[in-house]
Amino acid sequence: MVLAASLACLLCLGSATLKAMSGEIVPIWMANGALLAQTLAAKRPRRYFVLLGGTLGFLGANLWQGESLYVTCSFTGVDMLEIGVALLFAPRVSTASELIQPGPCVRFVAAAVLLAPTLSGVVAMCLLEGWFSTHSFSSLRDWAISDGLGMAIFTPAALVFFSGELRQLWQSNRRNRTFALLALVGLVTALVFSQVLYRSMYWILPPIALLALEADLAGVFIGVLLCIAIALALTMHGTGPLWMPPYRTSHERILSLQLFVLAALGIAFPIHALQAQRQRLLDLLRDSERRYRTLAENSDDVVMQLSLNGTIKYVSPRAKLKLGYMPHELIGTGVVDLVHPGDRSAVERAIDTVQQEKSEAAIRYRTRRSDGTYIWVQSFLSAVLEIPEHAFDALAFTIRDINAKMLEDQRRDAMHLELERLAYVDGLSGLYNRRHFDIELERCLSSHSPSSQSATVVLLLVDIDNFKTYNDCHGHQAGDDCLRRVASAIALSVPSTGVTARYGGEEFGIILAASGQSEAQVIAERVRTSVEALAIPHATSSGGIVTVSVGLAAAASGTGVSVRKLVAEADSALYQAKRLGRNQTASHGQTAH
Ligand code: GH3
Ligand code: MG
Ligand code: MG
Repeated sequence: MVLAASLACLLCLGSATLKAMSGEIVPIWMANGALLAQTLAAKRPRRYFVLLGGTLGFLGANLWQGESLYVTCSFTGVDMLEIGVALLFAPRVSTASELIQPGPCVRFVAAAVLLAPTLSGVVAMCLLEGWFSTHSFSSLRDWAISDGLGMAIFTPAALVFFSGELRQLWQSNRRNRTFALLALVGLVTALVFSQVLYRSMYWILPPIALLALEADLAGVFIGVLLCIAIALALTMHGTGPLWMPPYRTSHERILSLQLFVLAALGIAFPIHALQAQRQRLLDLLRDSERRYRTLAENSDDVVMQLSLNGTIKYVSPRAKLKLGYMPHELIGTGVVDLVHPGDRSAVERAIDTVQQEKSEAAIRYRTRRSDGTYIWVQSFLSAVLEIPEHAFDALAFTIRDINAKMLEDQRRDAMHLELERLAYVDGLSGLYNRRHFDIELERCLSSHSPSSQSATVVLLLVDIDNFKTYNDCHGHQAGDDCLRRVASAIALSVPSTGVTARYGGEEFGIILAASGQSEAQVIAERVRTSVEALAIPHATSSGGIVTVSVGLAAAASGTGVSVRKLVAEADSALYQAKRLGRNQTASHGQTAH
C-alpha cells in the first residue's frame, strides 16, 4: 500500500513537471498504467491495499500541487474509475509476457487503452467543465490519448518490474547484447533530441526494432521507457525535432510525441512477439530433437537412419558396443555390406518391399562385427514419411542383438531333434529301437495292399552266436564294438525298403515287407554271410570268428496274424538254427540252411 501510494504520488508529481511543457494535459499519463500493473501483479487480498494506496497517492499529489478539494477529488475519482474499468475488463494476467500474448493483448488494448481512458475522459470533462481552457472535445481527445498511451506503455513496463521479470534480464545470457542495444537506443534518442537541425525523429526506430528482435521483454520495455524519458527531458529542455517546423504549438508537439511513441510500440511489440514465438518453436524443436536423440542413444538397439539406397546416414553410438564400429566408421557405407552373404538377398528384398509399399518389416539375419565374426540380429525397418506429402526420403532401421537367443534356440532345436531321434533309434547300434520295430511290424501286418491281395511280411530274427563267452573272453567294451560292427554289416545287407532294428541285447530284427519268402531267404543268408565276412575273432566259437544265426518267419498282411505270433515263429526258427549248430538260417516250418 505504501509502495502504491508513493508510486502514484510520485508519478502524479512527475506528470506535473511535464505539464510545464504541455499545458493542462500531460503527453503521457504514467500513474494509472503503473498502478494497474501493480494491482494485476498483486495477489487478490493485497489488491485492495494497492488501490487504497493509489487513491491516497493521487489525493496527496493533487493537494500538494495546490488544487482545490473538489478538483483533487474529481481527478482522483476519475483516475480510480479508469483503473477500475480497466481491471474489470482487462485479462487476468500477472506478468508482461502473459499480457503480450495475442488474446490477452487484444483484450487489454480494448479495455485499458481504449475503453477506460475514453470513459474517464468523458467523466473528467463533465466533472471539471471549465477547469480546462481548451475546447472540451480537444481536451477529451488529449486526455484519452495521454491516458491510453500511459496504459499501453506503463502497464506492461511496470508489470516487468512488479512480476520479477526484470530479474530475468540480469540473468539472461543475452544480458550483454541487451545492455549494448539499450545504450544504442539511448544514444540515438539523445543525439536526435539534442539537436535542432534535422527532423530525424524516426531514426530512433531501427535501434528499437533491433532491441525488440534481440532482447528479452523486460529489455524492450526499458528501451521504450528510456527513449521516452530522454525524448521528454530534452524536449522540455528546448531541443530536439519537436521544436522545429512544422510543430508550432505545444499541442502539436505532444501529439507528434505520442504518435512517435505509438509507432515505436507498434514496431517493437509485433517484432518481439514474432521473435519470442520463433524462439519458443526453436526451443520446442531443440527439445524434441534432444529427446529423440537421447532415446536413440540410450536404446539397447543400434538405431540407424538410411537413405533410400540403403546408405547409413545416422547411427547411434550403441554400434560400438554391439557391432564394434564407431558411428563415423559406418556413416556413408551401405547397411547391406555388413550382412552375411547368405542373408544379403533377404535383407535387400525387405528394404525394397518397405520402400515400394511404404510399409515396415522385421527381419532376422547375420551381420558382421568389426572383428569379422557374425552375430544374429533382428532388424526393424520402416519408411520415414514426410508429412504432408506422404513421400519419404529415409528409412528408420534398428538392429537388435539376438545372437545369444538364436544360439540358445538352435541348441534347443538340436536337443529336441536328438530327443526325437532317441525315441526311435537305438543308442549303441544306431539302428531303430525295439519300440519303433514293434510299431512298424504291427503296421505292416495290419495294412491292406492296394490290389486287395495280401502282401507277405517276412520277419528275420538275428542272434549273435556265443556272445556271452565273447564278452567273457574279450571284455564288455570289445563286446559293444563287436555289436556295432555286426549291426552295421546287417544294415548294409538289408534293402532300403526293409526295417532293421536292435531287438534286444545281441539280437536284431528285420522286417522285409512286400517281398517273397524266397527273396527273404536270400537276404537272410546275405545277412549271415556279411557278418561271417567281418571275421571278427572269437576265441571260444567253433569257427574262431563271430557268427550269427537267423530265424525267418512269414505271414500275409491284413490276415489277422499277430505280432506276437510272428515273433514266436521267427524265434522258434532261430532256436532251430541254434540247435542245428549256429551260423545258419532257419525258416519257420522249413529246415535250416
Ligand atoms: P547263443 O549262441 O545261444 O546265443 O549264446 P549266447 O552266449 O549269445 O547266449 P545268451 O543270449 O544267453 O547271451 C547273450 C549275451 O549277450 C549276454 C550278455 O552278456 C550279452 N549282451 C547282451 N547285450 C549286450 C550289450 O549291449 N553289450 C555287450 N557287450 N554284451 C551284451
Ligand atoms: Mg540272445
Ligand atoms: Mg546269442
